[in-house]
Amino acid sequence: MPLAPVIFVLGGPGSGKGTNCERLVKEFGFVHISAGDLLREETKKPDSTLGAQISGILARGEIVPSEITVALLTNRLKEYPENKVGFLVDGFPRKADQAKMFEDGVQKALSVLYFDCTEATMESRLLKRAAANATSAAARSDDNEETIRRRFRVNIEQCVPVVEGYKQEGRCTIIDANRDRDSVYKDVHETIVRLGFKVLP
Ligand code: AMP
Repeated sequence: MPLAPVIFVLGGPGSGKGTNCERLVKEFGFVHISAGDLLREETKKPDSTLGAQISGILARGEIVPSEITVALLTNRLKEYPENKVGFLVDGFPRKADQAKMFEDGVQKALSVLYFDCTEATMESRLLKRAAANATSAAARSDDNEETIRRRFRVNIEQCVPVVEGYKQEGRCTIIDANRDRDSVYKDVHETIVRLGFKVLP
């Protein structure tokens, strides 16, 4: 059975993907699924054989094998058969093979949103988040200077080429994500309306 439309939400770490997805959920009624959250959830399951393997990969800032990520994502999407609005799939695909596995095997994405942001801006946001969460359960093993550098390198080497492919196909909208939250969201909102989605009554 086909799923509701899928929008891939891409951008480097700290570019604002999650923040904007939360606002879109409230305004349009999307279901938001973050690949990073799915993987972090898996590490917290005491009975998951994959949990320990994933934990190490996250802490190093590397990409989790595509078979694992695609399987977790596909299972989660199937938990929402009642979703008629659409899915925001955030932080996926981060590698060309994931894009192919998902679009050939599950469903072609309707569109791609790319949050274009400088590394200086992303680094300052990630370090602020780390400081704010330092003593809370939301503290992340990868929001430290060394892992942030590795995440940036992975982003340039593996994720940006995926976006380039979507740009060439004309399926990608680029959002200037260096600005304040409301200016960024205004462009995101307009893009989503242009794609035919309706604000909830
Ligand atoms: P995020 O929450 O989007 O910042 O992602 C945190 C980490 O989860 C990344 O640095 C990767 O280690 C892993 N991750 C997130 N999305 C993916 C993906 N699509 N494929 C593989 N690993 C991922």
